[in-house]
Amino acid sequence: MGISVSDGVRVAMLGGTFDPVHLGHLRSAVELVDALGLERVHMIPAHQPPLREAPGVPSHERLTLLQHGIGDTPRLVADDREIRRDGPSYSADTLASLRAEYGESARLVMALGHDAFLKLAGWHQPQRLFELAHLVVIERPDHHQPLPDTLGELIAGREVDDPAALFATPAGGLLRLSLPTRMAISATEVRQRLCYGGSVRYLLPEAVERRIMALGLYRHER
Ligand code: ATP
Repeated sequence: MGISVSDGVRVAMLGGTFDPVHLGHLRSAVELVDALGLERVHMIPAHQPPLREAPGVPSHERLTLLQHGIGDTPRLVADDREIRRDGPSYSADTLASLRAEYGESARLVMALGHDAFLKLAGWHQPQRLFELAHLVVIERPDHHQPLPDTLGELIAGREVDDPAALFATPAGGLLRLSLPTRMAISATEVRQRLCYGGSVRYLLPEAVERRIMALGLYRHER
């Protein structure tokens, strides 16, 4: 696809609650691989999300659902590193561990949806995120709010227009991407449908739906 990798392996993390994983996550991850010429996308369920209430489904089960969702999809991996760590799941710590694994010249990307990006200034050590990785923001339908001032200060001077400019350095840049398939699917909506017995067909991979149904997850729990 004409993207040179001589300047270091390109790897992304897509973290999240994955409560549960849905096709919006998985299709975005696949399109991210194509758009950025990535070697791998680490999909990493948060053990204890620092900024939201504890998910009703435990992290090991959210990881299992993610493994079922990924199946044999090339270049996507279900990564349990936040689950193996105690305490709050700070993305900065996760990126530091990926950086240690892939080395200083790797082009490391933290991918996140626009909704998550809007809250970035409130995350733990937001400046450190840019020391460790590039940020790639994925547009989501129904999430078009303007950026808060604190976020504007954090990202000042970092934005680039294309992957080539981003990957000129190992970390520190920001790229906003409009991937080809934008899906208005959210885990909140999936949970709500499951809670009242509605259909989630074609919102989730079949294997994920089958496991949720078999175990009776998300039924009447919220
Ligand atoms: P919830 O509705 O519970 O907040 P969610 O569907 O936003 O969940 P998360 O696990 O919180 O899912 O999301 C993990 C990451 O994936 C976040 O960066 C989020 O912005 C992104 N993401 C979630 N859904 C989509 C989607 N449909 N398209 C693109 N990115 C998405």
